[in-house]
Order: sequence, then structure tokens, then C-alpha cells
Amino acid sequence: MLNHHADSIEVLLFGAGLPTAGITTRCYVKSEFIHVDFQQLKVAFSNIKATVGGFDHNQLQLHWQVGTQTYMLMPANAAAEKALHATLPVSSIIGLKSWKTNTKAQSMVWNTIVYGAGLIALLLVLFVWQYDNVMTWVASKISMETEKKIGDSVLKSLKLQGNLLEKGAAVDAVKKVGNQLTQGSRYHYQWFVVQDDAINAFAVPSGIIFINSGLLKKADSANELAAVLAHEVQHVERRHALKNMLNSAGVASVVLMVLGDANAVMLVIAQQVSTQYFSRQVEAEADLKGAELLNQKHIDASGMVSFFKKMDAAYKNKDDTPEWLSSHPETLARIKFAEQFVKSHPCKGCAPLTWDKTAILADLNTEEKNGKNKTNKKLED
Ligand SMILES: [Zn+2]
Repeated sequence: MLNHHADSIEVLLFGAGLPTAGITTRCYVKSEFIHVDFQQLKVAFSNIKATVGGFDHNQLQLHWQVGTQTYMLMPANAAAEKALHATLPVSSIIGLKSWKTNTKAQSMVWNTIVYGAGLIALLLVLFVWQYDNVMTWVASKISMETEKKIGDSVLKSLKLQGNLLEKGAAVDAVKKVGNQLTQGSRYHYQWFVVQDDAINAFAVPSGIIFINSGLLKKADSANELAAVLAHEVQHVERRHALKNMLNSAGVASVVLMVLGDANAVMLVIAQQVSTQYFSRQVEAEADLKGAELLNQKHIDASGMVSFFKKMDAAYKNKDDTPEWLSSHPETLARIKFAEQFVKSHPCKGCAPLTWDKTAILADLNTEEKNGKNKTNKKLED
């Protein structure tokens, strides 16, 4: 057929023996029949069933059968679809009447899915952008009981490393100052000394504080120790440590997936805890709130100034900066802050804290020797 019918519409025809992508042909509607140019097919309306298909679920499809052969016809473009829809008598073809309403409903479903996916993507972007705030919020939603459980399991893992002191003159000295600082807190604090020469201290959620023996040796007064403890206490009180641990849990959960071993996960978290990094903003907050805590508990905050200065001298040009001095380039700013704080918050009636440094050093020495003997004995065994 070289001459098209005047009102013919461009369509795609699919069916047995035809290419998978269909063939392009034309059709026209005349007296209850669709006439297709290809093979001059003539299909009665009563044999046709209309459905909605296509990727967007708004594509008109006409189906019919000839013997065992199934054919499907669809408009080749939007104009053809419009023309076909205008020409076909709605009441004569099954499914055609509901096509329009179907199309609307289907595209609403698709719109919802597409916009829904867009919304999720937007939320993800917001989440990444607001990650810190989100983590702060998550940390604030964790109950004291859950926090205690987290803290306990980290402590359990740290104990396995075998270099913790739980009693003796050193621990007692830390406890004495620590208890004064944390009296009335909602947390029940526990104090430990780690046999480690790095001048460091760190906090674990639920109020578990670790002070390295190296820091105790370096401190020249109980007030300097108090300054460090007050800073670490604020990492607990303000849930900085908990938030950090939630971040580590992300890494740890990957370990859990790979190893399937919860103990390994706790070990990963425990190992991260002593080298945990806080942002400058968080450190500044712990400094300020720590200084206020010292003042509130009638402890002279000048220990902050002297210890910061000592640390600055000790860690000048060194990379292994400890946690509580982790934002090292800011140390001068921190010294300045501490000096101004002491100046503007005179500690009236504050008696200097006392400690027996000789007894502490003797205790640490004994423990060190014991530790070495234990290691030697192990090697001999
Ligand atoms: Zn800190």
C-alpha cells in the first residue's frame, strides 16, 4: 500500500515473526475495525483489548489475537497517541475507558516514587552536611543505661590489654581529685591509671576516665592533674566521648560484618578510644566547661595554664600529640584562654589541692617493676 489512508496514524506493531523492537506502520479506524497497513490487517474492535504499558505506565497498548498469534499495537509518538485516542470509540474497546483514569493514577504512583527518591537523596545530602548535628542528636537520645553498657564493654576490652592500675597510691590520688570534681554528677565515675609513658588522658562514655602514668609523672601539682581531669570529665558530661564512639561504631560495624565477631568490634572501639580525636570546637568547649567546673568546685584553675605551657614545651615540633592537646597548633590560644579565665575568675578561698607525689611515683615504679617481672616470667615460661 503506497497510498496512506487520509486519517492514518503512525504506529508500532509487535507480534510473532516481527522484530523484537516492532515495526513502524500506519493504521486507520473505519466502521468498528482498525485497519493496519502492514499485511493489511483488519481487526474488529470487539477483538481488541486496551492496556496501559511503557516505562512511564502511560502508554496506550492495543492487543488482539489471530489464531494463536498475539499482536500488540501502540502509537509511535505522542501525536499518534492523541489521534488514536480521539478516533477510537471508548465504549467499543475493552479497557479503553479506564485507560485515561489509569494513566493518571499510574503516573501519580510514578511521580511519588521519583519525587520520593529525590526527597531521600535530599535528606542524604542534608544528613552528610549536618552529620555532626545529627550525631549530637543521636548521642543525646541514648539512655544512661545504654551509655553505661557501652562504657562497660569498652572498659572490659581495655582491661584485657593488662596495663591498667585499679588501685594503689596513683589511682587513689586521681580518685581523690576526680571525686571532688564530679560530686553531684548524674554519672558514676570510675578512675584508672594506664601504665603508659605518653603524657595522655582520655574519657570513655558513662564516666570512665583514664590517666596515663606518664601524665602523672609530668604533673607538678594536684591542680595540674585537676585541670586535665576537669577537661576529660566534660568530654563525658557533654557526651563528646559517646558521640565519638558512635562514629567509631560505624567503622566497627564493618569489622563486625567481615569478622562476625562482637569482641573484635569492641577491641577496635577500645583501641580507638585512647587516640580519639576531637575537633577544635569540642576541645575549646571542654576547656571552657572544664575551667568553669574547676571554679565551681573551688579548685584554682591556674593548673590549666601551667600544664598547657608544660605540654606546649614538651610537644613542640612533635607529631605524637596526645588527645587532650590534640589540636596542637591551638595550644598557644588555649594557654591564652586559660590565663584570661584565671584572671577573670579569681578563685576566692580556694585552698591548693594536696597530693603525695613521692608516694605516687613510688607506686608507679613498683607497678612498672612488677609488670616487667611478669613479662620476663612469661618469656621464661
Ligand atoms: Zn579533649
